Amino acid sequence: MLDLKVTIDNNSGFCFGVVYAIEMAEEILNEDNQLYCLGDIVHNDEEVKRLEDKGLQIITHQDLNRLANCKVLIRAHGEPPSTYEIALKNNIELIDASCPVVLKLQNRIKNSYDKSEKIYIYGKPGHAEIVGLLGQTQGNAVVFQDFAELDLAEMPEEVTLYSQTTKSTDKFYEIKAQLETAGKSVNANDTICRQVSNRDKELRSFAQNFDKIVFVAGTKSSNGKVLYNVCKDVNPNTYFISNATELDPRWFEQGESIGICGATSTPMWLMEEVKEVLSGI
Ligand code: SF4
Repeated sequence: MLDLKVTIDNNSGFCFGVVYAIEMAEEILNEDNQLYCLGDIVHNDEEVKRLEDKGLQIITHQDLNRLANCKVLIRAHGEPPSTYEIALKNNIELIDASCPVVLKLQNRIKNSYDKSEKIYIYGKPGHAEIVGLLGQTQGNAVVFQDFAELDLAEMPEEVTLYSQTTKSTDKFYEIKAQLETAGKSVNANDTICRQVSNRDKELRSFAQNFDKIVFVAGTKSSNGKVLYNVCKDVNPNTYFISNATELDPRWFEQGESIGICGATSTPMWLMEEVKEVLSGI
């Protein structure tokens, strides 16, 4: 036995947006034993599997077109207006678990669009939240992940900048500064969710207290990537895993202190499972 001293970060685990969506799903599953969810309810395969065992069925937007007279859950990432139109047409009851933070951002983007502002969104093209945000502008916003992607010559002199809620705050302000240096006038809206940006700071102080860090998140989790890099930055001995079977005992030495933490989509039960395995190595 390596006798590792293992601690789970109390601030890790689901954010309130994900808690709300999962509670809503479980409530309906307990009554109906079946519920459709448009896309993965959370970017964590282990938690999706747990809910699928209770009757949750993940569907795509193509599936939504074919369904009628049923209930469909909208997850925390939110949806574009077209999804609400299809539901109305097909007599689908939407159980709307869009996170209030995302809804507020959708609203702000819609207002900017209505005022004919030139909208630039720092985010991941194709990400579900981005699809919902773009839908507020009839697809008339530019989505980008790096300053280098932007064609400055084609860009208007005045732009309104937003961010996907789970992006890096540091990079958002870096992009704003780069745009200003390039002579653009930027109406910058820091719309990064505080559940993510505060966790950034909390993780920095957590990760430096241990010999090694095990960061638990799904590979599809956007803030998982951001927060893993935060840990790796302050503690280079940080390992990324999606579940306990990915732990490699060769990573650890006798008596080391190990911190376990995760993304806003990482369930606490999964981190506890990882702790149990680590304690038995
Ligand atoms: S990270 Fe923030 S915006 Fe995203 S679901 Fe959680 S609370 Fe909502």
